[in-house]
Amino acid sequence: MAIDFTLPADVTETRDRIRTFLSQEVKPTEERLRAANDLRAWRPALQELREKAKAAGLWAPHMPREWGGMGLGPLAMAFVSAECGRSQFGAYILNCHAPDEGNMHTLLHYGTPEQKQKYLRPLVDGECRSCFAMTEPEVAGSDPTGIQTAATKRGDDWTINGHKWFISGAHGARFAIVIAKTDPDAQPPQARNTAFVVETDNPGWKIVRDIETMAGRGNHCEIRIENCVVPDSAILGGRGQGHRLGQTRLGPARLAHCMRWIGNAELALEEMTKRALSRKLHGGVLADKQGIQWKLSESALELYQAKLMTIHAAYLIENGMPFRQEVSMTKYHVANTLWRILDRAIQVHGALGYSTDSPLENMMRHARSARLVDGADEVHLSQIAQNVIDAFRTDGSTRMATGAGLL
Ligand SMILES: Cc1cc2nc3c(=O)[nH]c(=O)nc-3n(C[C@H](O)[C@H](O)[C@H](O)COP(=O)(O)OP(=O)(O)OC[C@H]3O[C@@H](n4cnc5c(N)ncnc54)[C@H](O)[C@@H]3O)c2cc1C
Repeated sequence: MAIDFTLPADVTETRDRIRTFLSQEVKPTEERLRAANDLRAWRPALQELREKAKAAGLWAPHMPREWGGMGLGPLAMAFVSAECGRSQFGAYILNCHAPDEGNMHTLLHYGTPEQKQKYLRPLVDGECRSCFAMTEPEVAGSDPTGIQTAATKRGDDWTINGHKWFISGAHGARFAIVIAKTDPDAQPPQARNTAFVVETDNPGWKIVRDIETMAGRGNHCEIRIENCVVPDSAILGGRGQGHRLGQTRLGPARLAHCMRWIGNAELALEEMTKRALSRKLHGGVLADKQGIQWKLSESALELYQAKLMTIHAAYLIENGMPFRQEVSMTKYHVANTLWRILDRAIQVHGALGYSTDSPLENMMRHARSARLVDGADEVHLSQIAQNVIDAFRTDGSTRMATGAGLL
């Protein structure tokens, strides 16, 4: 039997070191900063924590060692990211947060030697941040072939014009990976878009606003790109490869989100359990009630499924096997599991859960975006269904679409 759920000693050791660092250094700092309620204190404190993480060798865990990272593959990252998901800034402190993590993978995979030196190097070193600009207000983000931002070639340069929104991390980013249409008549339509690296001090790159969301302002920005001139060397991954690059990037990036959401869901289940054990009524506690026990058990079941699905999808990516169906299923399942567990946790807390005295309401407001980002629920469900139909048409069985090779 080749299946072995025993974690290699080096992964356990790394996870434990990160767990200790996050619980002893990061969490207390976050709590202190939240209590002090002084926005100006955050930046230097987070920077100090980043330096401590670097000094402790807990830096850019997803990047190869030759780039100064920890050289962890997707499987080991599942354990690291789940730890990061238990604190607000854990992933940022270790320099493996979205969207930089996905952009580092993209540059590593598609960048020319010059692009790697100019953009990947400072990104891995933590000297700058970046963003990824694909979604547009005027056209459905669920169908990137409809992108209207256009890049036109003039001599050796390209001029980009367009409108983007919900570009996470745009304020403070040194550069953006922008998806723009270069070949409007190309067939298939997926060959029409190209990725460009755009430096944000380019006069054609204008941040309109940090969009106010149900979770407040989270640096998800609206951008106008106006007569933005970039050289031919700004193309990332080749002309007409924008769609492929976006898809390659999104597979592992979606999974990285799932790993962090598992950490969030664990926290919510812990809060739920703590409250169920401490809230007294009818001569006992809430945890004595079967209606509450079901909330705990359903949450535990769903979280266990989420962990298994995430690890299996990470295994497929790590071993170069087809992963899109499993990543879609995992992304849908984990995002909805997080939502349901938070909802149950709030229910068990009663009015307290609905108040800002508990962390749950804030977690819930952030969790809502999980069902939209990196492919809305319905996009994944239709993709999953299509794969079920295709599998059945191929050999009269749905096995290939329900965790290929598992049972
Ligand atoms: C917090 C946050 C951060 C984000 N960060 C980034 C970022 O950094 N960079 C970036 O480029 N984008 C980012 N986005 C945008 C995100 O990727 C898009 O919101 C997402 O792709 C959906 O696109 P849309 O909002 O245009 O919705 P639309 O495509 O207009 O879809 C609207 C709704 O239609 C339904 N739908 C869509 N397709 C189907 C279908 N096939 N079948 C049935 N129903 C369907 C779904 O319910 C969907 O929610 C972010 C979004 C959020 C909320």
